[in-house]
Amino acid sequence: MRTYAYGYPRLGENREFKRVVEGYWQGKLDKTQLREGIRQLERQRDDTYAQFVDAHPVGEMTLYDHLLDTAIMLGIYPIDPEDLDAYFDLARGAEALPMTKWFNTNYHYLVSHLSPHTEFRLHWNKPLQAYQQKPSGYPYLIGPYTFLRLSRGLEPAQLPSLLERLTPVYAEIVQSLKEAGAAYIHVDEPALAMEVAEDDVRTICSVYQTLGQHAPILLFTYYDSVDLLPALYDLPIAGVGLDLVHGKRNRETLAQQGFPSDKVLIAGIVDGRNVWKTDLRVAAERVRQLQAQTGATIWISNASPLMHLPVTVDWETQLDPALRERIAFAKERLQELNLLKTLLTEGETDATRSWNSYQHDTRHWYLPAVQQRVAQLTPADFERELPYTERSQLQRERLQLPLFPTTTIGSFPQTAEVRQMRQAYRTGKISPQEYEQYIQQQIRDLVRRQEELGLDVLVHGEFERTDMVEFFAEKMEGIAFTQHGWLLSYGTRVYRPPIIYGDVARTQPMTLKEITYAQSLTQKPVKGMLTGPVTIIAWSYVREDIPIEQVAYQIALALNDEVRDLEEAGIPIIQIDEPAYRERAPLKKADWDAYFHWAAQAFKLAAHAQPQTQVHTHMCYSDFGAVLHYIDWMDADVITIEAARSRGEVISAFEHYNYARQIGPGVFDVHTPAIPSVESIETVLERAVRVFPKEQFWVNPDCGLKTRRWEEVLPALRNMVLAAHNLRAKYGG
Ligand code: GLN
Ligand code: ZN
Repeated sequence: MRTYAYGYPRLGENREFKRVVEGYWQGKLDKTQLREGIRQLERQRDDTYAQFVDAHPVGEMTLYDHLLDTAIMLGIYPIDPEDLDAYFDLARGAEALPMTKWFNTNYHYLVSHLSPHTEFRLHWNKPLQAYQQKPSGYPYLIGPYTFLRLSRGLEPAQLPSLLERLTPVYAEIVQSLKEAGAAYIHVDEPALAMEVAEDDVRTICSVYQTLGQHAPILLFTYYDSVDLLPALYDLPIAGVGLDLVHGKRNRETLAQQGFPSDKVLIAGIVDGRNVWKTDLRVAAERVRQLQAQTGATIWISNASPLMHLPVTVDWETQLDPALRERIAFAKERLQELNLLKTLLTEGETDATRSWNSYQHDTRHWYLPAVQQRVAQLTPADFERELPYTERSQLQRERLQLPLFPTTTIGSFPQTAEVRQMRQAYRTGKISPQEYEQYIQQQIRDLVRRQEELGLDVLVHGEFERTDMVEFFAEKMEGIAFTQHGWLLSYGTRVYRPPIIYGDVARTQPMTLKEITYAQSLTQKPVKGMLTGPVTIIAWSYVREDIPIEQVAYQIALALNDEVRDLEEAGIPIIQIDEPAYRERAPLKKADWDAYFHWAAQAFKLAAHAQPQTQVHTHMCYSDFGAVLHYIDWMDADVITIEAARSRGEVISAFEHYNYARQIGPGVFDVHTPAIPSVESIETVLERAVRVFPKEQFWVNPDCGLKTRRWEEVLPALRNMVLAAHNLRAKYGG
């Protein structure tokens, strides 16, 4: 029995990674200091691994992103890896590679652009360099299939031939590692947990047939089960890593088909995605069962990379002690592996016994009234009184909006001043009254500016919010915040996910004051602005003692209380943002119906409003083709989506789908400082008008404007309103 761990956070206990890399960007550290800082972090990581587990990879460190490093390794962006400025240019310069979500996590990687003609060659043997510096670990690589699946520019049918062309390059790398003395090579292939086409399966097998002959390969999969697992059994590889926490079907395959005795089964048994402590006795039982079922050599491991967890619980001194003793972050996962091995090989010790015995009870986490409310939900609670067509009539009469109504997605520039004031309020430097007055001042200015611009539906600007999830989570019971629980979202960008631990309820109105204040200043409709239940869940750690849909319904009910308050205060439009609705979907499409069912139900429960209240939702992504009908399930009156950057792809997705509701496909990209011209906006609009009946159509930016500057936002919106006026003149009739 051995213990193995991988994917430990690179951030460092004190966010040193961020400090060192940003220090270099700001010119405070030179190249040598940056390298030294990173080396120190690597040493710390190695030491932590070594303290608890028997083996671990080397070379997981990156200065920005491991997929970027892979692309450079394979000669796709053949920069000199010593040339840090060229490297960071690729990562974050004016011509940086695009970024997207890594599987269904909240980490973003840099996307390589390939073509069917891309040539690969070994340009940078990063794993060998890492191994030579520390020849005690197993060199780490992202596998060829995952790399290709996560790149852009290929048709699915072109993948096998590129995979074949990549094989010699990978063979050269693993050969060099074997010659350097590596005992095993750690190859990450999480894409094997996606749905894999027949042709791909064949090619994957032939790739690993070749690679396995060159060197002893440990093939790691995670985040879900691997449908093609039995096909891996015949390959000459040394071991397979399986996620046995989130890949429940892996457990069934093992029980039914066993596991070959010539390979190591690396059993991912402690959770890499959520924070609840592993029940050591249950886990030990599962390992024993695996042993009995398969007779294989078993190593125990984390179920997925530990980078989705903060570094350590050690410093969370402010947490509810009942919660603190029940959670495990990355370091504690290593500890669990260590204890589990003890339990399996030596039996119970004081340490194994105390791991799951808790001092504080959790009765205060539960709210019977909330549980009862969820238990008593009936189908009617999820459905609005009237169908969309009838609602939209009432809403039209109430709102009296022009054709092509203009609006924004909610947030406006969060200037340094706004952030300073929020900080001053949080640290007690200014009183709550002063802060409130300041926010009111911002809202006043914004309402005036929007009226001057001639926008039709106004917003309050979200100046009081740091983060769209944190803002609501802080106002709800049953959700906790850590002090140091940072994760990397991309590059050096960090965020702190909340922990949903108990029953969730709203203690008082969360947005009412700001929204009604904004509405009191104008005759135009102001949109109430909420974050939806699916997004709150997707960006948090979630309790596992009740089904996820129940957690979602609790949050939805809290949000619905807010909706009711806003309605009562006369707010005619309510927007419930769900940017995570699509990205939270499971890896395999076969699981989508079940997921979208509860996700849509939760949204509808939150959005259950009177027929004459117009419900908007907003999502920021552009790969819509496969999810349009799931978006229909939400039964929103209006959706606003990202479209400007996707060159009409979004609109063409709708060409094949008869979408009956109102829609605002964003007309300009908020992610660049460039100011869109009236003509460029009209081009997007004209294209959309050909697809959607004009009465269905809204005019708005792609997303919130909070990261932009006023100097960009004002002219951009002026042009947007002008373009809408031109269209109105042309089609208004
Ligand atoms: N209302 C939010 C904003 O405007 C939406 C942000 C998002 O979609 N991520 O900032
Ligand atoms: Zn958005």
